[in-house]
Amino acid sequence: MNPNAVAHNHIAIIGAGFGGLAVAIRLQQAGFDDFVVMDRAADIGGVWRDNTYPGAAVDVQCQLYSFSSALNPQWHNLFARQPEIWNYLHDVVRRFGLRPRLLLNCGVERLDWDPAEQVWRMQTALGLRTASHVVIATGALAEPNTPRIPGMDGFAGAVFHSARWDHEIDLAHQRIAVIGTGASAAQFIPALQPIVPHLTVFQRTPAWVIPRHDREISTRKQRLLGALPVLQRLQRLRIYLKREQLLLGFRYPTFQKPAEFMARKHLKSQVKDPELRAKLLPDYRLGCKRVLISDDYLSALDKPNVTVVTDGIRQVTSDGITDGTGTHHQVDAIILGTGFKTGRLPLTDCIRGIDGMTMADKWAGNPTAYLGTTVAGFPNCYLVSGPNTGLGHTSVIYMYESQANYIASAISYARAHSVTALEPTVEAQQAFAADVDRLSVGTVWTSGCRSWYLNADGRNTNVWPGSTFSYRRMTRRFDPDHYVLHRRLAPVATSP
Ligand code: NAP
Repeated sequence: MNPNAVAHNHIAIIGAGFGGLAVAIRLQQAGFDDFVVMDRAADIGGVWRDNTYPGAAVDVQCQLYSFSSALNPQWHNLFARQPEIWNYLHDVVRRFGLRPRLLLNCGVERLDWDPAEQVWRMQTALGLRTASHVVIATGALAEPNTPRIPGMDGFAGAVFHSARWDHEIDLAHQRIAVIGTGASAAQFIPALQPIVPHLTVFQRTPAWVIPRHDREISTRKQRLLGALPVLQRLQRLRIYLKREQLLLGFRYPTFQKPAEFMARKHLKSQVKDPELRAKLLPDYRLGCKRVLISDDYLSALDKPNVTVVTDGIRQVTSDGITDGTGTHHQVDAIILGTGFKTGRLPLTDCIRGIDGMTMADKWAGNPTAYLGTTVAGFPNCYLVSGPNTGLGHTSVIYMYESQANYIASAISYARAHSVTALEPTVEAQQAFAADVDRLSVGTVWTSGCRSWYLNADGRNTNVWPGSTFSYRRMTRRFDPDHYVLHRRLAPVATSP
């Protein structure tokens, strides 16, 4: 074997989380046998590998938050915990025989389109590789956001982000500060509160919280679901339809009023202290920011060993945090529940297309992609969880499967029609962005709050503002009319 030979695959999927595995399954089902799934980490799982904080769980019923082609009758709870979901993903890899496809510890540092060879050249931790098609499935919530707070470097105790939980540290006897009160913090705060002497929670913006109503699924029910897959399908459909109805309130905010009423009632029942209740009541429409789904977050904040600080943070000192009013809060450890860098999708800084510019630079803070998946100037490159494919109301796995189907359809088309490279037309990409903007007008996401759904200009760049079944319909099959198709070296700007 030539030691200088560059390893080549027809398709390289980057990211072995739910998104990457969804594409791998679909490609396999479509008969592709030359693809790899690369991941920078030593194991699969994406966010479900990285987020091991106490209390981590999904907040969409896992009957729906799972692959349609890999139903699991054995979920222990309606809302599974992180270890169970991570195990499920391992089981999926086993079930579909994907283990030989995995290239772990293979972080991708740079991707360059080679117009002469019509391949992607990838610099990876395991050396140079090439692929005819690349699928970027690195997820939108992969890079922790660690804000620069004055004095943080001088803090004497431990500091870590919720997505990089330090399990070596025994927190049980430490006074803890938590910065941030989003979906992650809402899960680990109730787990920490009973075991620590004191918890100081720095809240910048209160979140709407609605009850989760989690419950265990009995072994009898699990057996029944195992024996009758059709029952599982019906349950999944019921959950899907119920959740899809929620979209009405997100699209037309006045319909959120009953949900806001329920959330206020939940707040009242969980928090006895009226002063604290006032601090925890949002002043924006429910859904504008991510809604928290929890049965125990608010009640944990009302416990005597918890202080909720809403006066901002002036600085961190060696032994604590000084808030905006100058009050000093002594703590032994700081946990950042400050979310993820969502402004620049992971890897897009390193993908260079036809003109050598990176995708992030092309976007200049305003990410757009045709169907949230393909970008003009970046041939044979597909984004899973790309711009405007996130959701606020239901399972994102449904979107991943729609995208996986579309990607498999595009690559099948290329194979069947001797197309060596395909990229969406600029017009198609702009028209899709215009549709997103039109659909976003008047929705709850653009109703006036700061959220990671919006870019710096307040444009919705993250959420799909339509129904998930309309997105499924649009991604049902590859649509060559919206593409520039290249055959070796000679671009042919026509559809067949
Ligand atoms: P997040 O929702 O972005 O929340 C980050 C929190 O940190 C917010 O409260 C934010 O305040 C605060 N924050 C950020 N920078 C700050 C700063 N410099 N100073 C003070 N506070 C600051 O992050 P997350 O909780 O990790 O969740 C991210 C996403 O992951 C969620 O929206 C959800 O999609 C997903 N998730 C899902 C689950 C689940 O399924 N169960 C669980 C966890 C996460 P502001 O609100 O004022 O910006």
